Amino acid sequence: MSTKWHALSVDECANKLDTTIKTGLSEKKAEERLSQYGENVLEQSDLRPWWKIIFAQFQDVMIIVLLCAALISGLIGEAVDTIIILCIIALNAILGAYQEVRAEKAIASLRAMATLETLTLRDGKWRTISSAKLVPGDIVSLEAGNVIPADARLIEGKDIECDESSLTGESLGVNKHTEALEDPDTLLADQNNMLFKGTQINRGSALAMVTEIGMSTELGRIAGLLKKAKRSQTPLQHRLAVFSKRLAISILVICLVVIILGLVRGEPLLLMLLTGISLAVAAIPEALPAVVSIALALGAAKMIKINALMRNLPSVETLGSVSYICSDKTGTLTQNKMHVDKLITSDSAPYALRDLKQCSDLAHALALNNDIRTSGLEKNGEPTELALYESAFNAGFSKEDIELTKPRIAECAFDSDRKRMTTVHQTPSHLISYTKGAPEAILSNCSSQQQEASETRNFDATQWLALAEDLAAQGYRVLAFAMKNLEENCSFSQESLESEMIFLGLAALIDPPREEAREAVLQCQTAGITPIMITGDHPSTALAIAKQINLVSQDCSNVVTGAQMPKLSDKELQDIVKTTQVYARVSPEQKVRLVNAIQNNGDYCAMTGDGVNDAPALKNAHIGVAMGKNGTDVAREASDMVLLDDNFATIVKAVEQGRRIFDNIRKFIRYTMTSNSGEIWVLLLAPFLGMPIPLLPIHILWINLVTDGLPGLALSVEPKEKGVMNRAPRPPNESIFSNGMWQQIILIGLLIGGLSLFAQYWALQYSPEYWQTMVFTTLTFSQLMNVMAIRSERESLFSIGFFSNKALISAVLGTIALQLAVIYSPIGNEWFKTQALPATELLICCGLALVVFFVVEGEKALIRKGLLYKAA
Ligand code: ATP
Repeated sequence: MSTKWHALSVDECANKLDTTIKTGLSEKKAEERLSQYGENVLEQSDLRPWWKIIFAQFQDVMIIVLLCAALISGLIGEAVDTIIILCIIALNAILGAYQEVRAEKAIASLRAMATLETLTLRDGKWRTISSAKLVPGDIVSLEAGNVIPADARLIEGKDIECDESSLTGESLGVNKHTEALEDPDTLLADQNNMLFKGTQINRGSALAMVTEIGMSTELGRIAGLLKKAKRSQTPLQHRLAVFSKRLAISILVICLVVIILGLVRGEPLLLMLLTGISLAVAAIPEALPAVVSIALALGAAKMIKINALMRNLPSVETLGSVSYICSDKTGTLTQNKMHVDKLITSDSAPYALRDLKQCSDLAHALALNNDIRTSGLEKNGEPTELALYESAFNAGFSKEDIELTKPRIAECAFDSDRKRMTTVHQTPSHLISYTKGAPEAILSNCSSQQQEASETRNFDATQWLALAEDLAAQGYRVLAFAMKNLEENCSFSQESLESEMIFLGLAALIDPPREEAREAVLQCQTAGITPIMITGDHPSTALAIAKQINLVSQDCSNVVTGAQMPKLSDKELQDIVKTTQVYARVSPEQKVRLVNAIQNNGDYCAMTGDGVNDAPALKNAHIGVAMGKNGTDVAREASDMVLLDDNFATIVKAVEQGRRIFDNIRKFIRYTMTSNSGEIWVLLLAPFLGMPIPLLPIHILWINLVTDGLPGLALSVEPKEKGVMNRAPRPPNESIFSNGMWQQIILIGLLIGGLSLFAQYWALQYSPEYWQTMVFTTLTFSQLMNVMAIRSERESLFSIGFFSNKALISAVLGTIALQLAVIYSPIGNEWFKTQALPATELLICCGLALVVFFVVEGEKALIRKGLLYKAA
């Protein structure tokens, strides 16, 4: 029987869990509990063990075909062939599995990095720990935007509203309180003093005691019932899978032609069957979808280094198409290192901070109206509030001290629609409330201003708004403060607390732009990406910061505000987003409209967000970007990418990486397909030219293994192309085979095939005993030369640097060494039926292969001059 925590008082819970609310668990006790109860995680069953991954390789149709080939070889008495084919199958499977395991590990570590963290009290100190390490009895601090990490009993917290729809299906927010419930059998949906794992806090901040973790939580109980996440294909993988299937059918037709032609020439049936099968195996690009996922997973793992955590693999692919980046201002374009620069009190004298003592109501409002939590010297909280808290603290108004005589007894939490928050305090004599927020959200609700007894000035909200506007135009973030003396027994409703207030003054905070923002904005502009600022802040502050980072020109005055947006039709908004780059006082709901307007124009949009209400916009955008440092869990859960440093420049770098990864996938596809095409041409054309079938099945399989395997994979670590950020974004629906890829696959393939056939023709005339080894070697070396030249779509190998992809150089040298071993070692001669080539013959093979290199380089020179198809 599980404990009915909701029916116990907070103290009874603490007793039962053997914990102390003031200091939390000790680290030692927490560690003991961690080993006793395990981690606070739900069991995951979608990670496959390595043996399953290897086994999966054998379910591939191509491998089954190869096994048939091994069998046929055995039947015609070629035992060595059978062994080699089996070895090749095994090697293929191991190589494939190794890559997949690496990719899965990369994904698992991405997932581990994406796990949430919780502010926890241990040994009397608040610290942020991974939510997986929480144990029963831990005291945690949670706030709006947090996804609740474990089931917990509420200890403290007012005005808390939770969204429990993920657990109970109830879409309305649930208000929580701390009292014990009388009925032990209260239904889950009505247990209003409990917080449940996986649900989220919409409003307010809470102190809670962890009661159940992991699979013992309510979510854990139903986790088994939840559908396991299906491995889904990315759009590119899907297109490639469809394409591979179509191609397979055409290749099978070609194979049939080759077999029939061979039979007509009088070749033995089984040999021809084997040749056909080998050709099919070599030519069908069955590995393409797998390579895409490997390239994406490894690419995503690398992106951590630039502080971009990809939560969704297909997004790596989509990044390259992004044409709009919509970013918050605060913290993303600015440093979020705020400090109060000016305080202007209601008697309108600009006070220096040290003068704060003279206006103690404003000082108390600054000190008390925030959710900063302290432990020792450490302070945790939101940067705006931290700046205000510290300005009061430095002037001698410590929140903790003042709260001894003015404890907080109620609050109306901040939300970005109201743009203000209120705290209610009990003083020895009466009740008082402090409110802070955006100037227009405060001033319109004030009826008077605080002034000296001798003063008789009237309160003029318009004048104050003009002053706030002035400060905002200088780039300040401006907050207004007000207070209200309350009647005993008055209602603590938002409406009554936040009306008829007494205005106290303005605080002007400086939040300088990030150093890197200007450079990143410039990069966007050269990369054909429009950067957009969407902020909850004042239009003048927004415009001032936008000018400082050159997001708009110095004479720009074009700002659209949240107040104007409801008057615009969707069509009008679609036109406006083409010309307007700054949006201010925008509510989270309006962000969704903006994303839709941009996307309806056919653009690809990345959108940042940090609050609970930003989740719909993040989900709607092609790439939802959440903040790793200051954002909420809810936004992170809704995002495709998390910025670990909250920095706008990181989005731009991620786009650059996305473009690089996509380029490399294209290069891999071009390389394998050109190589395959070369093999097909050789086998198809030889009989037409009256020559014997040039290659044995094991030659084909060998070429496939060594050339595709190592060099192909090394292409995925190719550094970015020069000027990758000087070209327009890739149109999202553009075929991966565009920009001349098809032509190259056919023509360069024909060239490789032609050169190999030339080697065959020459050898048959002048050096007949070596003809087959020469075709085999020319074909292998040509592919290696091809991969060297294919490294860049436009630039010559000499300008990108011969050694700039060391993995590829090693792979090419390794493959050459293997090929030489096959030609020159007695075992190689016996197994692969090769001859040790004399120097002249070897040089001819090398020379022919070099032709491929120079032709592809020549083709790129023509592309650079704009004389050939436009490369991406
Ligand atoms: P951005 O959208 O670029 O992150 P922002 O922080 O200004 O900018 P919101 O968080 O939506 O956007 O805040 C809107 C406005 O509400 C702010 O400009 C400020 O005036 C006010 N505000 C922000 N934080 C608080 C707070 N903790 N308490 C009271 N008012 C606040």
